[in-house]
Amino acid sequence: MSEETLTNLSREERTFAPPADLAASANVTAEAYDAAAGDSEVFWAEAAERLSWDQTWERVLDWDNPPFAKWFVGGRLNAAYNCVDRHVEAGNGDRVAFHWVGEPADDKRTITYSDLQAEVSRAANALVDLGVKAGDRVAIYMPMIPETVVAMLACARLGAPHTVVFGGFSSDALASRLVDCGAKVVITSDGGYRRGSASALKPAVDEARAKASGEGFDVEHVLVVRRTGQEVSWDDAVDVWWHDVVDNASAEHDCEFFDSEHPLYVMYTSGTTGKPKGILHTTGGYLTGTSYTHNAVFDLKPETDVYWCTADVGWVTGHSYMVYGPLANGATQVMYEGTPDAPHRGRWWEIIADYGVTIFYTAPTAIRTFMKQGREIPDGFDLSSLRLLGSVGESINPEAYMWYREVVGGERCPIVDTWWQTETGQIMISPLPGVTAGKPGSAMTPMPGIEVDVVNDDGESVPNGSGGYLVIKEPWPAMLRTLWGDDDRFKETYWARFRKLGYYFAGDGAKRDDDGDIWLLGRVDDVMNVSGHRLSTTEIESALVSHPKVAEAAVVGAADETTGQAVCAFVILRDSAGDGGADIVEELRKHVQKEIGAIAKPRQILVVPELPKTRSGKIMRRLLKDVAEHREVGDVTTLADGAVMDLISKGVSSGK
Ligand code: ATP
Ligand code: MG
Repeated sequence: MSEETLTNLSREERTFAPPADLAASANVTAEAYDAAAGDSEVFWAEAAERLSWDQTWERVLDWDNPPFAKWFVGGRLNAAYNCVDRHVEAGNGDRVAFHWVGEPADDKRTITYSDLQAEVSRAANALVDLGVKAGDRVAIYMPMIPETVVAMLACARLGAPHTVVFGGFSSDALASRLVDCGAKVVITSDGGYRRGSASALKPAVDEARAKASGEGFDVEHVLVVRRTGQEVSWDDAVDVWWHDVVDNASAEHDCEFFDSEHPLYVMYTSGTTGKPKGILHTTGGYLTGTSYTHNAVFDLKPETDVYWCTADVGWVTGHSYMVYGPLANGATQVMYEGTPDAPHRGRWWEIIADYGVTIFYTAPTAIRTFMKQGREIPDGFDLSSLRLLGSVGESINPEAYMWYREVVGGERCPIVDTWWQTETGQIMISPLPGVTAGKPGSAMTPMPGIEVDVVNDDGESVPNGSGGYLVIKEPWPAMLRTLWGDDDRFKETYWARFRKLGYYFAGDGAKRDDDGDIWLLGRVDDVMNVSGHRLSTTEIESALVSHPKVAEAAVVGAADETTGQAVCAFVILRDSAGDGGADIVEELRKHVQKEIGAIAKPRQILVVPELPKTRSGKIMRRLLKDVAEHREVGDVTTLADGAVMDLISKGVSSGK
């Protein structure tokens, strides 16, 4: 991306200063923010004091062999002890850890920190009986039920790295992950509830186990939670019921302490840009990074806040900001099993009202879906408990930001737009709610202790007002340590682009505005080159979403004989717009021209009912590009709904 990057986003001039009362009592105040600007090792060493260490570290950072970092070298701790036991020991055992809400109405559970301690200890004892030892990998393929979190923490307690695989993934996706990380045990359930009915999980595990066996890899045990009560096939040599072995195990378990660099988990990326990568996170640095950022970005007051992160635990946001960060901080959370539209389209708002949720963290894709349905739905619920809103996963278009702010946040809640990746483990760029005056659409500034820059092809910082590549210049505590079993791919993917400078290359394009604030522009691979002009997907999509009839948009560059590449757009209309009218395509083309310029005017606009998204809700532009260039559609294994691509391809071939 170059300095020619077009600039409609920076025409957005609204800013929203922190509410005075929040700023006055914020976890990170303006003074603390300024004070953090010094030595980052000193800063992170102080942040690590948030945790309880069995043995303190001798060295904060070992970067002698880049890009392989070691943080808090020589320190020893247990992640589960930090997330659970120490809160009980501090007298907070009666505090609610989770208000769990099942999808079937009235299916609820309240789990205190004491309850969690007993459950995690039982599960840890049961896993030991199944032969799990420190260093063994355990796969978790579960719905959003409390046992999922218990399973993760039990693994962490034993030093057995977990790999959580989305419950929505196929047996193929599960099998390849089982083999890739060599999982000894799989923890699953008979099924889970989604959209009003019970869907099965166990059959996919049986299939995946058979496929893995075919490749010479045998899973030793499958531990099965009974959630729905549906029929399951059973192999006595392998399968065990959770209620048999966990419920009968002792609720006492003395935990062992592990090296700060002991592996905590492997998480596969969402696969938006290609084959998923097995990201390895370790213990001390990861827990420091997630605990600090969760406290700073969400301004959590553990005694009074009710925090809800809507992410599925099967992606990294569920790990860092539903399990490890919030639990390390002693938060009270909501955890919801089902979809936002079951049994009615106001379910999320109803949950916020019922539990008095104060901090809410979700993804732009969800916000745009609610925009599509209309504000009447959230307007029917009392959302006055909310005090802070967060966004993650993609750029939030200014239009969606304003809707979120006005309709959900009642114009009083600051919005934190958090940029980070599976690889970064922790939030890297975000406004701080008590410090930063937020701008709709901008992730704003790097977190304290983090060195982010926007650079040109030669790795030089670009001046304000220009675009380039997003890089991270210094190691950070929750950074990935490698790709599981593949150091070479780790070096190649993230460190080769700016090898001489030693920068981490994030793969995203970004721009600094005239104030130096950061705007994410989409994947570098998705940047379009139209007649020599570089155009960002995010900017054109935001222009389309700013049209009153449009709810969502995805833009790709398709090969074009005259212009090199041409802009192709796929749009979803708001329900209130009906079919958009006969001239909708021309109307939208003109709108983009007015908002950005003639060069960005899409060659083609397709009105579609749905967009292809990953299970974590990100638009898969590479598949749309295949459609726009009339190619066979590529790897769809991480797609949430396979049928979507057929719908879109049909629309294209019929010329609609
Ligand atoms: P893969 O690496 O397999 O293609 P992925 O990159 O989609 O998958 P994740 O690690 O879940 O997998 O997503 C990280 C990416 O999400 C970032 O690189 C960025 O493109 C995007 N992203 C996350 N948060 C934001 C945000 N607040 N603003 C803009 N983009 C964001
Ligand atoms: Mg990625």
